[in-house]
Amino acid sequence: MDFALDDVAAEVVSMARRLGREVLAPAAAAYDRSGEFPRPELQRVFESGLLDPEIPESFGGAGLPRWLDALVTEELAWGCAGITLAKTANNLGLTPILVAGTPEQKERLLPAFTRTLQFAAFCLTEAGSGSDAASLATRAHQVAGGYRLNGVKRFITNGGVANLYSVFATINPALGPKGVVAFAVPATTPGVTAGKVEHKLGIRASNTTEVVFDDAFVPDDLRLGAEGDGFKVALRTLDLSRANIAAHAVGIGRRATDEAVAYAQERRQFGQPIIEHEMVAAMLADSAMEVEAAHLLTVQAAWRADAGWDFSAHASMAKAFASDSAMRAAERAVQVFGGYGYMTEYPVEKLFRDAKIYQIFEGTNQIQRMVIARWLGKERRQ
Ligand SMILES: Cc1cc2nc3c(=O)[nH]c(=O)nc-3n(C[C@H](O)[C@H](O)[C@H](O)COP(=O)(O)OP(=O)(O)OC[C@H]3O[C@@H](n4cnc5c(N)ncnc54)[C@H](O)[C@@H]3O)c2cc1C
Repeated sequence: MDFALDDVAAEVVSMARRLGREVLAPAAAAYDRSGEFPRPELQRVFESGLLDPEIPESFGGAGLPRWLDALVTEELAWGCAGITLAKTANNLGLTPILVAGTPEQKERLLPAFTRTLQFAAFCLTEAGSGSDAASLATRAHQVAGGYRLNGVKRFITNGGVANLYSVFATINPALGPKGVVAFAVPATTPGVTAGKVEHKLGIRASNTTEVVFDDAFVPDDLRLGAEGDGFKVALRTLDLSRANIAAHAVGIGRRATDEAVAYAQERRQFGQPIIEHEMVAAMLADSAMEVEAAHLLTVQAAWRADAGWDFSAHASMAKAFASDSAMRAAERAVQVFGGYGYMTEYPVEKLFRDAKIYQIFEGTNQIQRMVIARWLGKERRQ
């Protein structure tokens, strides 16, 4: 086993670290206040080749392995998880094409994302179907040459800014998961509009909207995979994305710990820096320990996916553990800052607000525990 990075990987990580610290972190508070979409900062990430680094080299991308992309995401999320989410949502929106697209569909849809700054989004959730995603109600009616889509997707990251949507719809709700079909839908398609913009507790630099499909025509050649395979494509995509979501949480947890340590070294009470008080030091040690464990679970899950090993339960472990530990690390950081931690002038209250979503989206942590528990009942190798 070798934890050392080779020169190329080390350079990629240090580029991401510079972007996280010098571009994203200084801009984070302003976007958190305004809720605007951080296009200039994402342009910088794009120019560094790190916006969609998992697109294979054959389609003009960097073709980074998932474990290295996870390290990139950790560094960017250290700077601002909300800004970084546009990157992870791109990955989520493009993965159905990588998982189920034909060579022609990949050639047609992916290279545009490597040439100019573009965004993708993944449209699964609806008002009535969240954790129980297979109960979705968006309809795909077969017509000559393709399908007409009707329905409303809710809580879509990159909604409104995306150029391309991956959309999951049913040809017949009575078929349950077996009725689901996946499509790649250009945002310019007549009948596709962004609906209500959501105002959020945290990750406020990320755009979240409804996406409305009103008799939108999608030709047969933009269907991803066979009719009825759509739900499997959605689950596979979420499995593959989960380590990257965990990497966000590692970035938040690490930033919270770094901020808390720096503050505890400076702030003096009872005649000494508060880090000298054992109860404060123990909080910092707990955060450091959990964030490090979360990081190891995350790169392991991503590495297993790269290696073609069984990785779904490990990705769930990484996502649930990393987000629970980020939440705890952010909560401890607010505590270490005392009253100042509660004020918007200091960075830790934002980390506390940002951390919460990672326990909820891409499958709540209750759902992750269900996945892990089911895996425990199976024959396990490696
Ligand atoms: C900011 C944000 C961005 C998002 N981005 C996207 C996106 O880009 N694309 C997309 O498709 N979706 C997106 N989502 C949706 C997100 O994935 C869902 O909100 C999430 O999966 C939970 O679904 P729900 O909100 O309907 O909650 P529900 O499914 O209604 O769950 C409510 C509660 O019940 C619990 N629960 C439900 N079923 C069970 C069970 N069987 N056992 C135990 N507990 C259970 C849940 O854990 C949760 O605590 C986003 C959500 C948010 C908030």
